[in-house]
Amino acid sequence: MGVTLYAMGGTISMAGADRLDGAALAAAVPGLETLGAPLEIRDREPVGGGSLTFERVLEVAASAAEAVDAGAPGIVITQGTDTLEETAYLLDLVWRHGAPLVLTGAMRNPTLAGHDGAANLLAAARVAESPAARGLGVLVAFNDEIHAARFVRKRHSTSTAAFVSPDTGPIGHLVEGRVRILTRPQRPEPLPAPGATARVGLYTVTLDDDPALLTAFAAGLDGLVVAGFGVGHVPAVLVEPLGALAARMPVVLTSRTGAGSVHRDTYRAPGSETDLLGRGLIDGGYLHPYQARVLLKALLGGGASRPAVAAAFAERG
Ligand code: ASP
Repeated sequence: MGVTLYAMGGTISMAGADRLDGAALAAAVPGLETLGAPLEIRDREPVGGGSLTFERVLEVAASAAEAVDAGAPGIVITQGTDTLEETAYLLDLVWRHGAPLVLTGAMRNPTLAGHDGAANLLAAARVAESPAARGLGVLVAFNDEIHAARFVRKRHSTSTAAFVSPDTGPIGHLVEGRVRILTRPQRPEPLPAPGATARVGLYTVTLDDDPALLTAFAAGLDGLVVAGFGVGHVPAVLVEPLGALAARMPVVLTSRTGAGSVHRDTYRAPGSETDLLGRGLIDGGYLHPYQARVLLKALLGGGASRPAVAAAFAERG
């Protein structure tokens, strides 16, 4: 049995006004015939990455798990790149199989010179069927690099090298079409797929921020992620409202910088990390704000208690 391909839309499938389905995508890839077996194709409604939802992604995760149980050596998902770092992390949270689940897409659509989707799809399929990639959870294959879902970010709006792992670098490469895994990050135990939805917001603090904006934004939320300055700082005027919010729901502190961890115990000023953690905010560690939101939404959607949320961030952050 071959790798199962789920085609979910995005630039990789945009041929002018038409959308390429999985079969058309695969037909345009020279070299796919060198795989151990032809791709098994499962189309999903094609949408832009921005219109994907937890529900759609988790449905594919469940179907992919069945495909692996039925003998697929691995899974490829093609989708819009705009949310790929978030969907990859969500899938990695719940993926229990040794078989690799590999996401990819394209920055140039198939009508453009140098369309990268064909190369990316071939690379993803090679990773998905590679024994070397087993046990690594969810991966992103892009631009001949292999990234762990836990660390990957989309860091450029147009470059074909848009996907990077700022804290670690890629965990492997495609070299002459061969899958070379250079390092094997440890994965925490997967979570159960969340059975319900939770309303979790992401608030990015900014210069001369306004506490009224934060309070209005947070009304009605079940959980909040704060993307703070630097190592996890906010303007002093946000301290009181954040403390009040943390008393009623989980509020996770992350950094808006794009790489590196927030601190726990260095600064003492109002709005510093020690001030905020002392008021009940949860340390997001190395998780970037979009990932922290995915984790918090998955935990709360699974009914996690406040201590369970804190423990999950302590383990994964
Ligand atoms: N806007 C597109 C999407 O996410 C971008 C892409 O696929 O690269 O669907």
